[in-house]
Amino acid sequence: METDRRSLKKPSASDQADAALNGPTGRTRVAGIIGWPVSHSLSPRLHSFWLRRYRIDGTYVPLPVDPERLEEAFAGLAALGLVGANITIPHKEQAFTLVDSRSEVAARIGAVNTVIVTQSGGLHGTNTDAFGFIENLRAGAPTWRSENGPAVILGAGGAARAVAVALLDAGVSVIRLMNRDHRRAEALATALARDEIEVRPWAERDSAIAGAALVVNATSLGMHGCPELALDLRRLPGNAVVNDIVYVPALTALLAQAKARGLVAVPGLGMLLHQARSAFQAWFDVDPEVDEDLRRYVARALADS
Ligand code: NDP
Repeated sequence: METDRRSLKKPSASDQADAALNGPTGRTRVAGIIGWPVSHSLSPRLHSFWLRRYRIDGTYVPLPVDPERLEEAFAGLAALGLVGANITIPHKEQAFTLVDSRSEVAARIGAVNTVIVTQSGGLHGTNTDAFGFIENLRAGAPTWRSENGPAVILGAGGAARAVAVALLDAGVSVIRLMNRDHRRAEALATALARDEIEVRPWAERDSAIAGAALVVNATSLGMHGCPELALDLRRLPGNAVVNDIVYVPALTALLAQAKARGLVAVPGLGMLLHQARSAFQAWFDVDPEVDEDLRRYVARALADS
């Protein structure tokens, strides 16, 4: 992965302007994002940035697909010559059942967010959310280590499952999991079947974070339009890391509280950017860089929305 990235020179502004003026050619590689709705997705902006930066003859388009027609859409991907697609809400679980083969990580997460059309025209499904989460955590909190202490995950939806898989793979030995709907947290722990996961009551979250090295908000609380996550961080040790995977707004109230306490605060946007890397590499043969230019470019779209 590193070799590809280093061997590519960033194009000049005039190169980028040339590339932007040239339309698709007969060899253009086409990928996209399938969702319903999909117009809000940042992925076209993100992938288009990299396609321009690395001067790749490719394009990435939004593909709104009604859930009733997902099977038809999947059947057409190879026939239309697409190199693959990202899959977003509400299709990730159904996509898992529609691909011909699945990566091990997709099987553990139980959902597919990336489809790769193989040389033989088959559909391979994978899930890049766990990778995106851990890469963003390592980039935002370089001193964090799995052996630093227990991790706390708030939430038990699709994103929480990817976070749990990522932390287990990173070697975290205690994960305290809590969710408003307790049964859903139990179901997640049962599905992952790992002794490292302890389910705790949602109402006891303030005390459950005591002594933790990492707290991850994987609920939708704190997201624009949702209530704030009520969590008192005072029982966290001074070297703890707080990671909010919500990325709208960029600085959630939880992250602001962590910063005010002098803790390391890791925002969620980087997870989105890093999870896109492996799909981009599979389709376009380049491991693209997540840097400040990209962050600013994507964040500008969030500010405008
Ligand atoms: P799901 O709908 O699968 O899960 C939502 C989670 O939020 C559940 O745990 C749910 O609890 C909890 N929740 C919702 N409302 C409340 C509430 N009022 N009080 C307490 N808990 C609540 O969503 P996802 O797992 O897909 O996504 C969760 C968040 O993560 C979203 O904000 C999403 O934008 C973000 N995300 C960020 C990514 C990134 O790249 N940064 C990637 C994927 C997701 P309950 O089960 O009790 O309803």
